[in-house]
Amino acid sequence: MSKPLSPAAGAGQGASSVDEVLRLVRARGGRATPSRRVLLEVLFEADGHMTAEELAEAVQARAPDVHISTIYRNVEDLERLGVVVHAHMGHGPAAYQLATLAHGHFICEVCGATLEAPDELFADLAGTVKAKMGFTIDPHHFAMLGRCRACEEGG
Ligand SMILES: [Zn+2]
Ligand SMILES: [Zn+2]
Ligand SMILES: [Zn+2]
Repeated sequence: MSKPLSPAAGAGQGASSVDEVLRLVRARGGRATPSRRVLLEVLFEADGHMTAEELAEAVQARAPDVHISTIYRNVEDLERLGVVVHAHMGHGPAAYQLATLAHGHFICEVCGATLEAPDELFADLAGTVKAKMGFTIDPHHFAMLGRCRACEEGG
């Protein structure tokens, strides 16, 4: 494991299953409710990240009795408890993911392609910024925009 780049980056460390995340929720004073379990299951199974709307849809598909306002509140609460984080992926709505699986992104401004950005790519930049400005960057919170290889070569 590489060193977390920000205090928040290590928040969900070690939680690799729904049960572990719920344990973390309880340890931080939150409640492990059935609707929160469904939400975490959806996030664990999602290959990537989901907007609040997509999350609500997926949770309701699995548990139709869970009210939509409960789902949105759960997202907020789980984020406050540090087990879920959001990221801004360009101009669209924020995307949510498990804190343990959080990572940065590069998004092409031309075609919209999204590339996963491994943390080690930010290590040098993070070190330089920290040393020169005393600032700790959080490379997960905002996607970095630019142009993908195909668009760069094609245009
Ligand atoms: Zn934000
Ligand atoms: Zn592109
Ligand atoms: Zn991603």
